[in-house]
Amino acid sequence: MKNFHTVIVGGGPGGLACATLLARQGKEVLVLERNSVIGPKVCAGGIPAVLLDLDFPEELWEKSFTSQNIRSNWQHTVIQSASPIIRTVNRGRLGRWMAERAAAAGVSIATSALVLEISKDRVRTREGEEFGFSFLVGADGSSSLVRRQLGIPTAEMGIGINYQVPGNFPEMQWHLNNDIFGNGYAWIFPHQDTASIGVYAKRGSIRLSLLLNNLHQWAARRDLELKSRQPQAALINSDFRGWRFNNYFLIGDAAGLASGLTGEGIYSAIVSGEEAARTILDPGYESQKMAQIIKKHQLHARVLELASGTKLTDKLILEGLVFCLRTGLVPFSALEMGIDQPL
Ligand SMILES: Cc1cc2nc3c(=O)[nH]c(=O)nc-3n(C[C@H](O)[C@H](O)[C@H](O)COP(=O)(O)OP(=O)(O)OC[C@H]3O[C@@H](n4cnc5c(N)ncnc54)[C@H](O)[C@@H]3O)c2cc1C
Repeated sequence: MKNFHTVIVGGGPGGLACATLLARQGKEVLVLERNSVIGPKVCAGGIPAVLLDLDFPEELWEKSFTSQNIRSNWQHTVIQSASPIIRTVNRGRLGRWMAERAAAAGVSIATSALVLEISKDRVRTREGEEFGFSFLVGADGSSSLVRRQLGIPTAEMGIGINYQVPGNFPEMQWHLNNDIFGNGYAWIFPHQDTASIGVYAKRGSIRLSLLLNNLHQWAARRDLELKSRQPQAALINSDFRGWRFNNYFLIGDAAGLASGLTGEGIYSAIVSGEEAARTILDPGYESQKMAQIIKKHQLHARVLELASGTKLTDKLILEGLVFCLRTGLVPFSALEMGIDQPL
């Protein structure tokens, strides 16, 4: 059995960000990823641009948007900014780039390495390989095995359905249509030669078949044919119940750090990965970034809770939210998971 300072279960953006930072400080790190390829993931690929204090190269971004189109049942608003508000990223390319950066820092990455068992100081893969650790990081997404091993339940989940549609789409659009998407929303997030078109809703708030059917009809009214295409769907964990558990850490979706309101979670995965690494390196480290992310996460959960009553109250809450965005009472950055106050 080979021993590592830190074993990270899951090679998504959270796991790779954590691994890179630890390896740069000379720690021996192993990332175990169940898929044969790092990167590809059901995702719309939107990342808040203003929050990106990350050292990612410009070439990674598919498109950048200085405006956001938001439509609800009763309103339409265009949020404008001099600089980009949101960028889109192809998850395959992001994963490849992050994996190469991690490997260059000295991280060992094993693909096709599904972790099946976790004990106090070692993990075991499907192939029967065992790896010892001093620290274990659960970066294994919304159905996290590490989280289950810690005995942490997951009640609050969202579901996202995505279609990647070829074509050139000029606008980034959000559609908060309460009649057909409940307290969720549909989106059009343009990439280079395609767009991610999909829908997000709180699990259990609307029947999945109805949500999908409504998305198809909504798209057809915009001359977008989705029905004959293959959808991809995945759960998004927004049930945050802590991230530090002695020598175990949970980050990103495994920790439930995606927004329950919007389903956004790439940025919080990366930041929580880096902050977990800093805490592993210095147990006395007080993460202000995590404090801000958790505060934003709780705010989103509260708005979602308010918008989970009757159909009429939900509509009023969502319309109120769009009104506040339209009039500038609430900045668009309030919708984004992340750090929008100077530290
Ligand atoms: C339809 C849809 C659209 C979305 N759109 C956006 C968006 O526009 N913007 C945004 O910010 N977020 C979006 N999200 C959410 C985003 O995809 C996640 O929040 C983000 O990927 C979380 O990163 P992570 O590193 O925590 O986990 P993941 O990216 O899920 O990575 C976890 C990794 O762990 C691996 N793994 C799991 N279990 C094991 C195991 N037992 N052993 C080994 N490996 C394992 C998985 O294969 C995976 O590679 C969307 C999600 C969906 C479903």
